[in-house]
Amino acid sequence: MNILVVEDDAAVRRFICTILKRENYTVYEADNGINALLLLKEQKDISLMITDLIMPEKEGIETIVEVKKHYPSIKIIAISGGGQVGPENFLILADALGAHTTLKKPFSSQELIRAVKNL
Ligand SMILES: [Mg+2]
Repeated sequence: MNILVVEDDAAVRRFICTILKRENYTVYEADNGINALLLLKEQKDISLMITDLIMPEKEGIETIVEVKKHYPSIKIIAISGGGQVGPENFLILADALGAHTTLKKPFSSQELIRAVKNL
């Protein structure tokens, strides 16, 4: 399975990608929503997107809405560490907009793998 990881924090992105590669998933990376959508245009074989919610350029919420619209078959996991209104509110919003799973940062490698396998 091919997974797209969208996260502006390079350390968190590396953490997620390392875990997924260790589980033998093929991983694509983007540092914001704009680059994620560009990548999806080229790579037609991505079946899961894991996206941060707070990012520069294009935020996760907006990205989720566009992916749902243009690529309805892609499963989505939203991750968030917060922001001014707190992570729960962003994750509730992501859930309402169609994210299949939400994970609150910090999460463990086991939590991530469980979320991916459940989808
Ligand atoms: Mg972020």
